[in-house]
Amino acid sequence: MSADFLPTQRCMVCGCQDLTNLYPVTDTNQGVPGKWDILQCMRCGTGVLSPYPDQKEIARFYRDYFYTDDAKRFRGWMEALREKFGHLRGITLNALAPARGKLMDFGSGAGHFAAAQAKLGWDVVALDPYSSASNAAQNARVSENHIELLYPDNSFDAITLWYVIEHLQNPAQALEEFYRVLKPNGILVLAQQDFGSLQARMFGQNWLFLDPPRHLWQFTASSLEALAAQKGFALKTVSWATLEMSPFCMLQSALNVIVGNNNDLFKFLKNNKLPKDSKGYNSARARPWAVLASVALLPVLGPLTLLAYFVLLAFKQGDIFTLYLEKRP
Ligand SMILES: [Zn+2]
Repeated sequence: MSADFLPTQRCMVCGCQDLTNLYPVTDTNQGVPGKWDILQCMRCGTGVLSPYPDQKEIARFYRDYFYTDDAKRFRGWMEALREKFGHLRGITLNALAPARGKLMDFGSGAGHFAAAQAKLGWDVVALDPYSSASNAAQNARVSENHIELLYPDNSFDAITLWYVIEHLQNPAQALEEFYRVLKPNGILVLAQQDFGSLQARMFGQNWLFLDPPRHLWQFTASSLEALAAQKGFALKTVSWATLEMSPFCMLQSALNVIVGNNNDLFKFLKNNKLPKDSKGYNSARARPWAVLASVALLPVLGPLTLLAYFVLLAFKQGDIFTLYLEKRP
C-alpha cells in the first residue's frame, strides 16, 4: 500500500486523526477467517475496517463464492423478488434524469437493476469484476488504491452504485474517476448502509449491514456527501426508502441479538448452490435450530420491524441511504 494512503490513521473524509476503536468484528455472513476492528472518526463519524486490507486480500473476500456461475446469490424466488426491486430502485433516478442516455451500473451484481433500466430505454453498461452478469467487466482496471475506467471523459449521463462504494478500497479516488467519465450535470447515485443510523448504533456488532470484511467503509449520509462534495458533486436529494432491505436488516439484526450473531435467516435465504472452496470459505451455514427459532419469532418481530421502518422513514431516518448527486461542471 502506498505510504500516503493510511485510512486507519487519518480519516479519508475529514482528515481527522482521532479514530476510536469501536468494537472487534468477524465475518458472520460468509465465514472468511480473520478478526478485524471497526474504527470510527470522532469528528465526522465515518467508520473503517482495521487492519485495512490490500487489493489482494479484498479479492479473497469474494472470489468463487459470492455468486454462483449464473450470478445468483439467493434462492430462486428471492432472485425473482429482487428483479422486481430492480425496477423500484430506478424510480427516483428516472424522475431526476432529464433524458435516458448512457448509464453505468458499477458493481452490477446479479444485474437486476441494469436489466430493468435497459427496458426503460437506458443504454446500460453493467460493470462488475465479480459477476458473470456483467457486460463490461474488462472495462475497469483495478490496481493498488486505484480504479481506472476505460472510458473517455464525459461519457455517461448517470452512474449508479447500489451498495458498492463501501466495498471499494479507495472511495475518494473512485469518486474522482466517476467524476471524470460523467457528463457535466450527470447524476451519480450512491446507496449504502448508514453508520449514523439508530439501527447501527443500537445493534452494534449484531448489525447485518456491517458485513465485515467486505464492507471496508461505514459512511454516514453526511460524511459520504462531504466526500462527494470534495470531488465536485452537489447533492440533489437523499432517500432512506429501501423497503426491500431495511426491515429485513432490522429483523435479522434483532434475531442476532436473541439467538446469537450468525445471520441464520439471511444465510437460509441464500442460494444453496453457492460453492465452497478448499479453505472452507462459505462453510458457515445457517444453524437449523436458529432458523426454526427465527421463523417462530417472525409473527412478532416481522410487524414490529416493518412498523419501525415506516416510523423512522417518516422522520427521514433509516439504516440505508441513497444519495442522488450531480456533477458540478
Ligand atoms: Zn472524519
